[in-house]
Amino acid sequence: MFKKKNFERKVSLKSKVRDGILSYCKMKHPNECILILRGKSKNGNIIIESLVIPPFSDTGPTFAGFPHSFLPFDLSYVGIVHSHPSGSAEPSIPDLHNFFGLVSLIVKSPYEDDDIFAWDSKGNSVKITIV
Ligand SMILES: [Zn+2]
Repeated sequence: MFKKKNFERKVSLKSKVRDGILSYCKMKHPNECILILRGKSKNGNIIIESLVIPPFSDTGPTFAGFPHSFLPFDLSYVGIVHSHPSGSAEPSIPDLHNFFGLVSLIVKSPYEDDDIFAWDSKGNSVKITIV
């Protein structure tokens, strides 16, 4: 009954980080925004503790990206968050191709508390807990 299985991946997001993400998305609207998530990962639990504005980011209404090669190698980078001004929280094919780190957060318009969704590299939904 209790078979050994992979740890279920989940995301713990600090409420002040969530507020920072939401206000940054609102500020950049109607353009997409993108931020790097810093934190740590333990037993499949990804704890997001702070945000980093990526260097050389280039954003528009349907595109948010930055060259990953410019990123310093930093183990505290656990993923990225970007906004979808269109109002869909589903990752697009380019989003999955450009997956970075362990988790990808997508914030849909109008960027309220319940508009943040987490995805793994295969496009599976990951549970978010606000801590
Ligand atoms: Zn996207």
